[in-house]
Order: sequence, then structure tokens, then C-alpha cells
Amino acid sequence: MPESPSTTADPLPIALPATPGDGINYDLFLDCVHCGLCTSACPTYIETGNENDSPRGRIYLMRAVTDRRLDMTQTIQRHLELCLDCRACETACPSGVQYGRLIEPFRLAMDVPEKGEPKQFDWFFKYILFGLFPYPQRLHKALVFAKIAQRLKLDQLLLLTGMWKLLPARLGRLATLLPHIKTPDAPLEKVMPAIGKRRARVALFSGCVQSEVFQQTNYATVRVLQENGCDVVIPDEQGCCGAIHYHTGHEQGAIEFAADNLKAFDRDDIDAIIVNVAGCGSMLKEYGHLWDDARDGQTADRQQFSSKVKDVHEFLDELGFIPPKWNIPVKVTYHDACHLVHAQKISDPPRNLIRQIPGVELLELPESEVCCGAAGTYNLVELEMADRLGERKLDCIRKTGASIVLTGNSGCLMQIDRQRRLEQESVIVMHPMDLLYCAYMHKSPYDY
Ligand code: SF4
Ligand code: SF4
Repeated sequence: MPESPSTTADPLPIALPATPGDGINYDLFLDCVHCGLCTSACPTYIETGNENDSPRGRIYLMRAVTDRRLDMTQTIQRHLELCLDCRACETACPSGVQYGRLIEPFRLAMDVPEKGEPKQFDWFFKYILFGLFPYPQRLHKALVFAKIAQRLKLDQLLLLTGMWKLLPARLGRLATLLPHIKTPDAPLEKVMPAIGKRRARVALFSGCVQSEVFQQTNYATVRVLQENGCDVVIPDEQGCCGAIHYHTGHEQGAIEFAADNLKAFDRDDIDAIIVNVAGCGSMLKEYGHLWDDARDGQTADRQQFSSKVKDVHEFLDELGFIPPKWNIPVKVTYHDACHLVHAQKISDPPRNLIRQIPGVELLELPESEVCCGAAGTYNLVELEMADRLGERKLDCIRKTGASIVLTGNSGCLMQIDRQRRLEQESVIVMHPMDLLYCAYMHKSPYDY
């Protein structure tokens, strides 16, 4: 007797549960040939010696979960969470593995509970990381108290007596990360004209935390650009780059900030969008490929925006830097911010500019390309590993004998400066634009 059609047909495939890797282009996993050449560049592997905390190990784990050979356990999740997303592995990898395009979407998806509800964030994320940091006006109000405390030297008391350890862990970390907030030498105008022959017209991306905590560095950046023949415009309506949201699993928030920035910058009116924070620059340069066009039809616009974004060192080096004439006899060293050297592949331009300051001797920093532990908001959530890397970085800085350490990212500036204050080291931590500004303005960096 013939079998009924329903029993002779191929059985219907059993619907497998979704895994965090399902939305990722599988070929990106296959680029990894497991050679292990990346492991010695990976800060978490250097510290733990655990293969699961290495790039190769993490790629293996993500691929095994995607293949459903491994279940997504809490242990696997921890190994992936411990990744700094510093991308040192991309620089080290001879096979061109795009690790960031694996870990970033995988972590976003792994944070979404099975039923697809949005990720739940605790008070620290809701009120501090998402509710305060991206909004300069709110931050400005909150920092009034911090500035008073700094004037009364209560910040030093908190740090040196160890009283910060009595606060909730992440709050204590935040309180001690805040550097001395300098009042800018003059307010930033909406348009600041070129000095001498006009060579370019650029817009400054002023950032959220940057525009409040490092106001003087923004001012210094604009002045250096002016000295190099640039008209600088500062669009009012710009906002946070979205990196805080994107890297902590709140993708929708990042998309909304990106949309606001697309509206704020008149790209036809400028030659470049200049960024002086490596983390923001990296995020802005990635707008063009992060989100599917089907979502909002803005991909072409985002790509055009990203194509205009330049890190300030990159831009000045390409433009043809006009060096300052004033002599600053000082030994400095330079820390490569991960989002500059690994994510944007910018390593020589900052060094080229620094070497052109008369009198400055640039001493190479051992392990310059190893993350200092800041890594965006990593040092606010992964406290132990951030501490280990902060201590390691300061040890390396000490070995150079430099009296100033320069770095082009606000997160690194805060992380290294915190470590310096904790260990009562006298080394000065500043952005290369600050040192350049001193040279153009005939100021001593010791009085800055
Ligand atoms: S990521 Fe690159 S360097 Fe690391 S194991 Fe894979 S192929 Fe080798
Ligand atoms: S991104 Fe950084 S921490 Fe993460 S695996 Fe690569 S090198 Fe290691």
C-alpha cells in the first residue's frame, strides 16, 4: 500500500532557536584560520593567559554558538563581555579578520533576552550612561557640584583617603575618574576664522562628555586648526556620537543620535568634520556601514557623513601641518588610543605633529598599542580588568622617563590620569592638541 504523501515528503526542518550569531555574515567567522598571531596583542589574554579571553578563543566561541555546537552559557557570555573591543587583534591579524564586525553585533544580540524584549538596564545605565553623559546641558548642571568639590580639593581627599571605595563600586569609579576641569581660555564661537591664508573650512564635532569635561581641549583644537589656516564652524544642533549606547547594547539610542548628527552638519559647506576624541571619531566613521538601509533609508546619507569625518591629527597631517615656532624643551611620550590606532589605523600622524614642536623629544612608550583599560565605558563596568590595565600602562609610562604623556582620546586621558593620581605620579596627562596649543600660544605646559 502506497504511503500517504505526508509521510513520503522530506520531514519539515525543525526550527532551531535563534543564536546571537544568526544575523552575522558567516564568512566573517571563516576568515579566521586560528593561527593565534593575534593572541599576544590582546590585553585580556596578556593579563589572564586564558585562551577563551583571546581573540582566537572568542571567535571560536561565537562561531560554535552560531553553529549550535555550544549553548550560550553564562561562562561564554563572561569571556565575551571581558573583551575590550579595542581591536588590537585586527591590527595584529595577517588574515584581515574583522573582529569588530563579529563581537559588536554578537554582543548586541546576546544581550537581548530570548523572547526579543529589549535589554533591561539598571540605574547606572539609565541615569548615568544614557541619561546624563550624552547630554552636555545636563552634564553641565551635574558638574557644578564637581567643580566646587575640586575647588575645595575634596576630590583629592576622596581619592587619597580611599573614601571612594565606600561608594557603590561604579559610582566610586566615576567620582575618581573625573579629571581637573579647566575653564577654557575663551568661549568657542559658532564660527572661528582661519589665521593667515585660508586653506580649508571644517566643522568641529564637539562631543558630549568632551564638550563639558574637556572644554579647554576643544578650544585648543579649534585654535590649532585656525593656526593651520582653517575656518572652523561648530554646529549647534550636534549631539552625542552614539558610541555609549551602541557599545552597551542600546542600538536604537545610537541610531537616533546618528540621525540628529546627519541633520546638524551641513556637509556641502565644509571640507571635513573634525573629531579630537578617538572613540567618537571611530563611531562617526562607522555610521556608513552599521545599520541596514531597510531600517530607515538613510544609508547613503550616513555613508556621505562618514566619508567627511577626520581625526584632527589625520587631517592636519594630510593638510600639511604648519608647526609652531616656540620652543618647549620637554620629554613626552605618546599612548596610542585603541580607537585611533586599531579602529582608525592612525598611528603616524599624531607622532608627526608632536615631533614638529620645537624642543619636544618624543620617547616611544613600551606597549603603546595595548589598551589602558578605558575602552569607552569598560572602566565603569569591568572594574578589575580596567585596574590591571591601568596599572600596567602607568608602569610603562614610568619607564620612559617622560614628564608628559599625550593621547588623543578623552577616555584614555581620564583613565591614565586617575591611575597617575592614585599612584601620586607627577607625570602630566594631556591631549596632543593641548601641547600644540601651548606651543602656538607661548605657554608652558606645566602652567596649563
Ligand atoms: S583572528 Fe587572525 S591572527 Fe587571530 S587566530 Fe584568527 S586568523 Fe589568526
Ligand atoms: S578586541 Fe581587544 S580585548 Fe577583544 S579580543 Fe581583540 S584584542 Fe582582545
